[in-house]
Parts: sequence; C-alpha cells; structure tokens
Amino acid sequence: MKYVKLVSKMVILNSSKTDPNKILPMHYLWARQYYRNGVSNNWVPEEIGMQKDVEQWKSIKELKEDERRLIKWNLGFFSTAESLTANNIVLAIYRHITNPECRQYLLRQAFEEAIHTDTFIYCCDTLGLDPEEIYTMYKNVPSIKEKDDFVVNLTKSIFDPNFSTEGVDNIKKFLHDLIGYYVIMEGIFFYAGFAMMLALKRQNKMIGVGEQFEFIMRDESLHLAFGCDLINTIKTENPQVWTLEFQREIIKLIKTAVELEKSYAYDACPRGLLGINAEQFCDYVEYITDRRLERIGLPKAYFKENPFPWLSQSTDLSKEKNFFETRVTEYRQGGDLVWDE
Ligand code: FE
Ligand code: MN
Repeated sequence: MKYVKLVSKMVILNSSKTDPNKILPMHYLWARQYYRNGVSNNWVPEEIGMQKDVEQWKSIKELKEDERRLIKWNLGFFSTAESLTANNIVLAIYRHITNPECRQYLLRQAFEEAIHTDTFIYCCDTLGLDPEEIYTMYKNVPSIKEKDDFVVNLTKSIFDPNFSTEGVDNIKKFLHDLIGYYVIMEGIFFYAGFAMMLALKRQNKMIGVGEQFEFIMRDESLHLAFGCDLINTIKTENPQVWTLEFQREIIKLIKTAVELEKSYAYDACPRGLLGINAEQFCDYVEYITDRRLERIGLPKAYFKENPFPWLSQSTDLSKEKNFFETRVTEYRQGGDLVWDE
C-alpha cells in the first residue's frame, strides 16, 4: 500500500484526524478520481469558433424572435448563476470540508466555474450583447430571479460565519445546503437551459454557443456526481441525520425546485420552436430529477421518459470528438499516481 491507506474512523466532517495540508495517504479515492476526470476535461471558451453564431445573430431572417429570447434567457441565467456557484464553493463549502483530497477537487471545481463565467463574457463579447441587459436578468426576469433567490435562501445557513458542522442539527443543515447547491442548482436548475441550447444546436442554430454549453454540461455532470458522492458519504458516516422526516423535507424542496424550473422553461420558450416546446423541457426536468433523487437514495417521483435521448451523448464528448481524444491523452500522460492497494 503506497498512496492509499484506510485510516480507521476517518470521517469527512468534524474529524480531529484530518490535516488539511496532508493529502497523502488518501482516504476518499473517489474525490481524487473526480479531480483527475476534471483535469482530463480541460477546455477554454476561446477554443470554440463563434463566426457562424455572429452571422446568425446579426441576420434577421436566420433566427426568429422566440429563438433569440430563448438564447438570451439562458445566457442571462447562466451568466450570473456560474459566479453564484463559484462563490458557494469558495466561501461556504470549502470552509467546512477540510479533507484534503475533497478540497483539491473543490479547487478544481472553482476553477471550472471561473471558466464557465468566462464563457459568458466571451459570448457577450463576440455576439455584441448588451452586458447590462444580460447581467441584470437575474434581478429583472422573474423566472430567473426566483431560481436564484431559491438557491440563495436554501444555502443560507452555511454562509453564517458562526456556522459549524458539529452536532446532528448542523449536519442536517449542511446536508440540506449541499443538496440545494449540488442537486438543485447544478443538477436541476441548469438542465432545462442545457436542453434548450443543445436542441437549438441540433437545428444548426448558434452551434458555437451550443458547443460551449456542451462543454459546460460535461463539467457540471462531474460537479453533480462529486456533490452526490459527498452527500452520500456524509449520510453514510452520520446515519442518524437521515431520518424519514428529513428525507420528506428534502423531497418537498426538490419538488418545489422542479416547479420553478418548469416555469422557467415556459418563460424562456413560451410558444415552442421548430419541433421542441416547453412541455418537453418540463418532461426532461422531471426525468433528470428522478435520476438525482435516486442518486442520493430517495425514491423517484415523476416516472417520465427521457424526451431527448440524444442529449445524454453531450456529456460524453470524448467519444464523439477526435479533437478531444487527442487532448485527453495529452493531459493523461502527466503524473498519474498508481493506486496500489
Ligand atoms: Fe458551472
Ligand atoms: Mn458547477
């Protein structure tokens, strides 16, 4: 056993044995794996050409008014939501997760959120959008504001400077906020937007922006998976907090979030576009929500079919894109640790 050692009674929260500066030997190998997967996915927005998008955006006949609305709504939501998630990681979650391999991934995630923030700067710049319009939509568009307010409210307790994760009630609060942040924000509130932008891309509309969303979606699927593993680890190590009553509270919260995401879908796509409409986006949100519920050990609630089976391929770009295969190999050559158990 070289780099990995199972230390008895090591726990992720409130452990006197955790030294944040001592990453080896590691205990939570899944966290290390997420870090490595994140590094394999490296990208920056400038790698994606936007020329065709600029032409389409400028041309009156190539994009309909409803398509422009949908694009703006999604740029408006994501442009500020990405900084909100970055702030949550750095200012709240990082403080309470002291395990060094988890922190290494949190830093990677924070960097990816900076890339995402940069993506929307790049989109605004290249398309010549009015930043005042896009960057105030989180205050001025009610269906966006409601989503952001919901998450801000949901993740309040861990922002309290006096908050600690000691004790059953505080662990519950922390789990509640982690679910609000990872499962609801990154796992539900991002997904109607992903589906909309990728549906447009499939019709050859705004393919550059669509590709940016594909890269973001792939990163977000890792963030979500890490978040669920973190949540499940805390649950397993503190089984006394996961009561039926608490589970019911979480399910109720998630269902409220689904309703907010559905109103957002109707608002962004009120009349439907060629072959796609708000009902399908709502079905998609319900379909992915069942997967999120199951992922954290809760029962399914919606039982919907996936209306966009093609969409899952988008999180698996490496199989489709030669360009990416090359890059993945390049990144993977460097400094792999061999886990030797
Ligand atoms: Fe992001
Ligand atoms: Mn994220």
